[in-house]
Amino acid sequence: MAKRVSREGKLVIVTGIPGVGKTTVLNSAISYCKESMIDVIHINYGDLMFEEAIANGLVKDRDEMRRLSINHQISLQLNAANRIRSISEKNNVLLDTHMFIRTIDGYMPGIPIWIAESLMPDTIVLLEADPESISRRRRKDAGIRNREEDSPQKIEEHQLMGRAGAASLAILTGCTVLIVENREGEHEAAGRAIASLFRRQ
Ligand code: ATP
Ligand code: MG
Repeated sequence: MAKRVSREGKLVIVTGIPGVGKTTVLNSAISYCKESMIDVIHINYGDLMFEEAIANGLVKDRDEMRRLSINHQISLQLNAANRIRSISEKNNVLLDTHMFIRTIDGYMPGIPIWIAESLMPDTIVLLEADPESISRRRRKDAGIRNREEDSPQKIEEHQLMGRAGAASLAILTGCTVLIVENREGEHEAAGRAIASLFRRQ
């Protein structure tokens, strides 16, 4: 059974449904860390998986990733986890990822137990917002990103799945769970709440 690991840095996994504002908020969190002279590496899990998928000729664009077979996604996930684990042994890491990815076969966990046991995060952050704001943010990015259109009920369901997933991982790995609200126009405050996880002891 896995136990909390001792490492030089902290591994904080930031999850939230597409369009909630993870990347935006993490950029603020990184700026706060810089101001406090705390080194943190920002890793986007999807970017690592995408690099690998491109190298293997599996996809041409980022949003095709969701349509890959589950087996392909699992092997891309595992390879990325191993890379992140070794980076986090010596560095603080903020990992930008999803708790559940909607696929044609249903919700696929972004952090199944074999990935969690490889990563052994210190904290999982759940970034949340009200469904209306998330829909608006997705529509705003429609030309740049090809995100799914969802009803407010589906958005709420997806966020509830995220909470269930974080709670399960906390029980299984001993990590803590921090719920952060990304209120409209207040991504900097959300970033500050995340950056404070790296405050010096
Ligand atoms: P994905 O999982 O698809 O990568 P994401 O969670 O990283 O999505 P972002 O790309 O950071 O989401 O943000 C989506 C949109 O929401 C962007 O247009 C961003 O500018 C906007 N946004 C993020 N946070 C806020 C906020 N607090 N208030 C208003 N708009 C926001
Ligand atoms: Mg993002």
